[in-house]
Amino acid sequence: MQAATGKSILNGIAIGPLRIYKKEETETSVTSALTPEAELARFEEARVKAQEQLGQLYDKALAEVGEDNATIFEIHQMMLDDEDYLDAVKGVIEMQNATAEYAASTAGENFSAMFAAMDDAYMQARATDVKDISRRVVNILTGQADEAMQDDQPAILVADDLTPSETVQLDKSKLLGFITRYGSSNSHTAILARTMNIPALIGVDFDESWDGKQAVIDGYNSCVYVEPAAELLTAMEEKRTSDLKQAALLQNLKKKPNVTLDGREIKVYANIGNVSDVGLVLQNDAQGIGLFRSEFIYLESEDFPAEEQQYLIYKRVVETMAGKKVIIRTLDIGADKQASYFGLDKEENPALGYRAIRICLTRKEIFKTQLRAILRASAFGAVSIMFPMIISVREVRDAKELLEECRAELTKEGVNLGQVEIGIMIETPAAVMLAEELAQEVDFFSLGTNDLTQYTLAIDRQNPKLDQFYDSHHPAILRMIRYAVEAGHRHGCWVGICGELGADQTLTETFLRMGLDELSVSPSAILPLRKMIRGLDLSKESETKAPLL
Ligand code: PEP
Ligand code: MG
Repeated sequence: MQAATGKSILNGIAIGPLRIYKKEETETSVTSALTPEAELARFEEARVKAQEQLGQLYDKALAEVGEDNATIFEIHQMMLDDEDYLDAVKGVIEMQNATAEYAASTAGENFSAMFAAMDDAYMQARATDVKDISRRVVNILTGQADEAMQDDQPAILVADDLTPSETVQLDKSKLLGFITRYGSSNSHTAILARTMNIPALIGVDFDESWDGKQAVIDGYNSCVYVEPAAELLTAMEEKRTSDLKQAALLQNLKKKPNVTLDGREIKVYANIGNVSDVGLVLQNDAQGIGLFRSEFIYLESEDFPAEEQQYLIYKRVVETMAGKKVIIRTLDIGADKQASYFGLDKEENPALGYRAIRICLTRKEIFKTQLRAILRASAFGAVSIMFPMIISVREVRDAKELLEECRAELTKEGVNLGQVEIGIMIETPAAVMLAEELAQEVDFFSLGTNDLTQYTLAIDRQNPKLDQFYDSHHPAILRMIRYAVEAGHRHGCWVGICGELGADQTLTETFLRMGLDELSVSPSAILPLRKMIRGLDLSKESETKAPLL
């Protein structure tokens, strides 16, 4: 067995024979026997044909992978109209008395090298695109077609690089996965692979001798195994079977509302800790992000993350969610989540200590940096802000005041801002008892049942010895949830759960009967929960014994 690593484009398993695809380098003669005018006319004719082909590819991509992904072929059409590119081709033809194919190929290479050298990842990814359009023109001029990438047998395709047009032309029924030596995870080829749901690895240093051998792509661990050992193969087959089951469930539920049989709707959102989790959110068709644990940005940094750094992260999440709600919880550091650069003292009782909103309200410069970054990202989608560990009305008012201060500053600076919904976590008994008053301050409540259980039952959630006592079905917890829902609703707040209890299917019916508006759970829990919700009928007597309320 041989193994190699790369960068995974999609979490998935592919099993099958490898097929190495080598692009023929088209030999182009440099010097033309024709006049530059005649070569320019040949180039123009080929360019028009290439535009037609790109139009057809756009239509194919539109039908198969949707408008957003098809746009790449419009970009290719624009690149083929680009003045700088056309001037470069013209220059080579006229100055070197070159053939149109040599000029197109040279301009393609030069522009590609220029894009590849840029700092911006998006522009770097354009290097492949400009090569792609030039190759298309050259093939038209030389009358040469690319070697077939696939044969009759389904296989894992291996290539140095794949262009978007090659990727979209692949016959999906014969494509198990693909592996490339080059390419970036921002490239359109990678985006297309994700959309087409094909396990793919890029940046793999593959060996020509792999051709025809049996292999496994393990997209979860960014690995390819060539001629895998029997035990590994069995484990991978099992994983793939479970992925297929999940995919079938998704197919069944995709875009369907989360409504019970008797018509009661509840939103199902996802909890994330990182930008990289957003892929999973979309894969599982969540309606929004109910909890973005922003402290992970701080935990992964060596120093306080700057406003710009945070802004770019929030913007990326918000843009990717394309108008769906993104609830960003402000910094919840302290207790078990420590970053040394905060210089926090060692505490006797860290869970009851200097943490979360307590740090934010006393170290305002840290808080304001984050609030400004979130507000700036609000121009790109539906952003909500949520404050953690609230115990008083005073804290909420202070936090809102700082938010308003940031909004005023940014407006004065001429920055575009969107509407921002404001909410709080209900995760302390104090917040539950004050739910009536707190609801008058905010737009929503999200119940943090992990901490609410810890503080209500006086059980350290970090202490494994206490697991047997950590009863999140405790009637005290369930009554608190019900109380918060009722108080919230009385004052026009919507109420959700973002703690682990939200995914507990033995309580889903209870939560619906209590009137919860939203459940935010880890991405992998979304589909089973949606299936459960769609099977419930609240008009009937509960079949499950309702927990003691
Ligand atoms: C909670 O306390 O339930 C919660 C969602 O927040 P965290 O687990 O991050 O403390
Ligand atoms: Mg919490």
